[in-house]
Amino acid sequence: MNKKSTFDFSQLNDDTEGAYGEVLSTECKEQVAAGVQHIIDAVNQYVDHEGTRDTPERVARMYDELLAGYVTDPVRMLNNALFTVEYDEMVIVKDIEYYSMCEHHLIPFFGKAHVGYLPDGKVVGLSKIPRLVDIFARRLQVQERMTQQIADLLNELVKPQGVGVVVEGIHLCAAMRGVKKPNAKMVTSAVLGRFRSDPKTREEFMAHLRRDSGVSF
Ligand SMILES: [Zn+2]
Repeated sequence: MNKKSTFDFSQLNDDTEGAYGEVLSTECKEQVAAGVQHIIDAVNQYVDHEGTRDTPERVARMYDELLAGYVTDPVRMLNNALFTVEYDEMVIVKDIEYYSMCEHHLIPFFGKAHVGYLPDGKVVGLSKIPRLVDIFARRLQVQERMTQQIADLLNELVKPQGVGVVVEGIHLCAAMRGVKKPNAKMVTSAVLGRFRSDPKTREEFMAHLRRDSGVSF
């Protein structure tokens, strides 16, 4: 019997909305607005004054969303969505779109994350994995660290036999300036437990990604 096809993930409910969507403090937003105002002031003689009049506050409101990952508690979010099941085949959630901000240049990098784990008595509600990616993406980041953070947290909370995370990213700081390579995709990975120690497990995961998502490595 193929367990993979018989386990119905839709039975896992999802009632932790409250753990997501917090906002930055008013003081924090005011400081972001002040910072943006400084940038505009620096080129004041050239800019369109009418068009940029409300830009500092607008950017601050946007950053509230872009940096929401700092004020969303991933532990609380995942703890509310752990389920005990008899299932020990690999679980893979692929093609999770994310948008993050490069901490070196403050412009976006974005792409897809692919997350797999081998359960050890517990699984996590399916929608929680994309949310976990979101929590770490909505910060000032570097792709390598984000990849590791996703793997570490999943490993810590779900305590599976192993975790694999692969992240693909297009970095606007490499596309718009510097080396100007708009199509260069960066691929990072983090493997823990059986994904690290057992080449067959790792290969099963990678084969899934190569086959269905066209990840090239
Ligand atoms: Zn950068």
